[in-house]
Amino acid sequence: MSDSMSGCGCGCGDGKGCAGGAGIGAGKNAQQAPAAKPSEKDVKDLKVIIGLEIHCQLNTKTKLFCGCSADFRDDAPNTHVCPICLGLPGALPKLNKQAVIYALKVAKALNLEISEVSEFSRKNYFYPDLPKGYQISQYDKPIALRGKMTVDDDEGHEKVIRITRIHLEEDPGRLVHKISRDRAGYTLVDYNRSSIPLIEIVTEPDLSSPKEARRFLNKLRATLEYLDVFDGEKEGSIRVDANISLEGHNRVECKNISSYKGVEKALTFEITRQRNLIRRGQEIVQETRHFLEGRGITTGSRS
Ligand code: MN
Ligand code: ZN
Repeated sequence: MSDSMSGCGCGCGDGKGCAGGAGIGAGKNAQQAPAAKPSEKDVKDLKVIIGLEIHCQLNTKTKLFCGCSADFRDDAPNTHVCPICLGLPGALPKLNKQAVIYALKVAKALNLEISEVSEFSRKNYFYPDLPKGYQISQYDKPIALRGKMTVDDDEGHEKVIRITRIHLEEDPGRLVHKISRDRAGYTLVDYNRSSIPLIEIVTEPDLSSPKEARRFLNKLRATLEYLDVFDGEKEGSIRVDANISLEGHNRVECKNISSYKGVEKALTFEITRQRNLIRRGQEIVQETRHFLEGRGITTGSRS
């Protein structure tokens, strides 16, 4: 019997159904599209363009919209739940002040402009990790906009990575997929994680290599831990969606990468995969892909 962890921090339905809009109907016949084959040098010289969406769990005592304890990791499934984080009819969410203060600390540290008005919205999607049928998130009025953090590039020179925005949202529940030889697979749901506070930090596409992306994440982690709002040691406390393209070609989104090393591996794999397609004169399909940590590869929903 094997367990595997799932549950997308971003609440997009984890790519199982929701493609996040990207890549829907994109280039079905791309495999056959014959384009002029570029020279080896041209392919090697293509600039790498990377942007990250980073979900970090804030280490508040309680959840984002209820009084349930957020310290759930050593406890039995569905023991840190109440009508609010289970999304029962009539339950009213009440915003956790500590989570807002933590998000503001991060926003200040990363040089963002604090919004005078921020707003929560319902992000609707239908998936068992989300009992309400929607995730409470910030969409057009996030808590902070336009920041920056520096990172060393691969030559050791300091460069600026622009931060697009930071917003607050709730984590969905966690799905545990059970598969065994003698019975059909089934899935268990654990709502202990439901409504744990997350901040999502979105960067501009300013990163230029997988190693640079990893250095950026390491520095971000150090910053958040210094602020005492985040614990990078906790399993699943950070989840990253990475957008990557080669100059002049379509962008691919790799969803739900759950380790720092995983980000570098997923990006390195993608660069090789995309370069090989371009080398053969094929088009890059704009799509959402999943990173398989164990195998170090990404797969598309169509493959
Ligand atoms: Mn998100
Ligand atoms: Zn609760």
